[in-house]
Amino acid sequence: MESAALLKAIIENAIDGIITIDERGHIESINPAACALFQYTPGEVIGKNISVLMPSPDRENHDGYLARYQRTGDAHIIGIGREVRGLKKDGSVFPFRLGVSQVQYSGRIIYNGFIHDLTREKDAEEKLRGYAAKLEELVEERTSSLKETVLALQAAKEEVSLSLEKEKELSQLKSRFVSMASHEFRTPLSAIQLSAVLIEKYSAQKDNENIAKHIAKIKNAVRNLTSILNDFLSLEKLEAGKVEPVYAEFDIVKFAEDIIEEMQMVAKQNQLIVYEHTGTESLAKLDQALLKNCIINLIGNAIKYSGENTFIEFNTEIADKQLFVTVKDNGIGIPENDQKHLFEAFFRAHNTGNIPGTGLGLNIVTRYTNLMNGKIKFQSKVNKGTSFTISFPQ
Ligand code: ATP
Ligand code: MG
Repeated sequence: MESAALLKAIIENAIDGIITIDERGHIESINPAACALFQYTPGEVIGKNISVLMPSPDRENHDGYLARYQRTGDAHIIGIGREVRGLKKDGSVFPFRLGVSQVQYSGRIIYNGFIHDLTREKDAEEKLRGYAAKLEELVEERTSSLKETVLALQAAKEEVSLSLEKEKELSQLKSRFVSMASHEFRTPLSAIQLSAVLIEKYSAQKDNENIAKHIAKIKNAVRNLTSILNDFLSLEKLEAGKVEPVYAEFDIVKFAEDIIEEMQMVAKQNQLIVYEHTGTESLAKLDQALLKNCIINLIGNAIKYSGENTFIEFNTEIADKQLFVTVKDNGIGIPENDQKHLFEAFFRAHNTGNIPGTGLGLNIVTRYTNLMNGKIKFQSKVNKGTSFTISFPQ
């Protein structure tokens, strides 16, 4: 009797909940700790199916679990224990650790459940998981902002080195111009000087014929100097990105014939420019000023680098939505080793001897061609002539 009272006192004062059920799952006893957890008084639950203390789906399945165990002896909880969820009277659900033992008592079987509330542990776990996730987020954030900073730094570095490179190129270009100019300007300047002295002399003699001849020479030398300066100005404008093509429609044949008229005047003795246009279409759409500059440069080279009594072939063609312009001569050609440098500013091939030139013409031609989305190609053999073709999408 003494020990029965002790046992009762232990159960009544236990911190964990203790519930016993019969073989059919009906609640036989419930201790105060379990009552507090589930928010019921003993009177409200004794005699009821234990499943009233379970949320779905255990609630619907519990009878089945019990029957299966009694049929097969295959236990999922009894003697094992596991984490499950309980349903309080107010409808809320809480986690607890359930240990179930089977007791043989005065000829029948009862099941004894020990309920250890896990709400606080789970909350703490949840909080910990939250902190960890937040921390991870923070780390991710910091890393990505760090990555962004590194990328921005890299971009800034590239920009600086790019503009430095550009600056270097420009100053190289300028110094090359100075050395070219001091060389190329000397010939026309001394020609002007000489002609001026001679004009002075001829004017004393009233020799008008010779005076006129030297005035023409001065004019020619000044024209040369102006064209060199113009080329350099074009280059500077191109370098600064100040050249924008202005597209307009025009008749390519009329345009070409005007250029020939102009260029035929500066051709050598018996150097004949022969023009032909191929294709039924003759309307082109490009920047006329830029295209004219390109063609004048190409024909100018053909004149300069081929001899007297030769033909210079000048062809235009509109086909496959493209305009092709070809200038072909039978002149000195370009040595193979020099060909790869041809389009660099100030570059001149080694076989130019004392033919004057600055090496700017083709550089400007390629840049203008590129600005109009065109392409430039050439073929050349030493002493067998040269052919340049520029083509533009139409
Ligand atoms: P300029 O700036 O006065 O035109 P340039 O004629 O020397 O000077 P580019 O027109 O750029 O310069 O030509 C570069 C070089 O290419 C020339 O110096 C020459 O060596 C070579 N070249 C160009 N066209 C021809 C050609 N038709 N035949 C032979 N060589 C040529
Ligand atoms: Mg040239």
